Amino acid sequence: MRRRDFIRTSSLALPVVHSIKKDDPSAEFPVVVSTWDFGKAANAAAWKILSAGGKAIDAIETGARVTEADQSNKTVGVGGYPDRDGHVTLDACIMDEHGNCGSVMCLEDIMHPISVARKVMEKTPHVILVGQGALQFALQNGFTRQNLLTPDSEAAWKEWLKKANYKPVINIENSSYQQTPSTDHFPGSIDNHDTIGILALDASRNLSGGCTTSGMAFKMHGRVGDSPVIGAGLFVDNEVGAATSTGVGEEVIKCVGSHLVVELMRQGFTAPKACKKAVERIAQRNPQKAREIQIGFLALDKQGNYGAYALQNGFTYSVKTKDKEMVVESDYHFTIRPR
Ligand code: ASP
Repeated sequence: MRRRDFIRTSSLALPVVHSIKKDDPSAEFPVVVSTWDFGKAANAAAWKILSAGGKAIDAIETGARVTEADQSNKTVGVGGYPDRDGHVTLDACIMDEHGNCGSVMCLEDIMHPISVARKVMEKTPHVILVGQGALQFALQNGFTRQNLLTPDSEAAWKEWLKKANYKPVINIENSSYQQTPSTDHFPGSIDNHDTIGILALDASRNLSGGCTTSGMAFKMHGRVGDSPVIGAGLFVDNEVGAATSTGVGEEVIKCVGSHLVVELMRQGFTAPKACKKAVERIAQRNPQKAREIQIGFLALDKQGNYGAYALQNGFTYSVKTKDKEMVVESDYHFTIRPR
């Protein structure tokens, strides 16, 4: 399915709760939600675990691995666009219902950073491993080394090198933008960022989340965005809810975005309203910059209510429950696209 083949919903149509009720009969769970339309395949894999009564944390890892292994996806895992020096460097994090978390940053040559992040969470006293240390840990734990730079991504990088103009492109899957692609950005009109953030509430009503990405295409070597930063790209609080983000990570880090969304839900905002408030915070802080970038938040509360909000149009998310399998277009802040 392409991103324009979505179901458009209003946040008003989503279930609304203003307080966390422990036994809300309208609660729908298990449920799994994930960023973008490519989240649909991840959700399907996660659903197999959730529908069999499995744990959210297992569903998260299984779902994220689907996207990481998809070579056609240029923004996550194998086949992800490299940095400006030609290295594919991956970032991922995972968080469970107990508040345990693990993260890897700038990991090379390993296809499944989400699984390495889980091992960091479960087998070390640490939360984050980076670069060579993360690779060493992965190899010691049975992961195999492989070249993640596919011929397609290498060709796109070589094309980019001709101009070497580093500028994030707002989710260019938006159809009106596709009609007038800017050649100032990335020749060939390629999508240069997008992440899978995935959140699940299991049959035991426990929440977990994960986030995995190759980050900004053609970024500076060593650059890490929000995705593997606990609190920025992902946050899970089993009392309240979980949130994840996609888009220009630097701006998400500056407001500790996913933690902000969860804390807003704790204050009583619904999942979509909490995402909206966080986006508005970013837009208010630097209105000019906010017009030039995309950021989207996705949240899932303890009842199984979910919602999203983005700076610009074009952000979609995927949902899977017992009765639903859909891609939803998020509401957004700016009604006029930047030119
Ligand atoms: N948030 C990711 C990063 O900044 C990229 C994205 O989701 O678009 O690395």
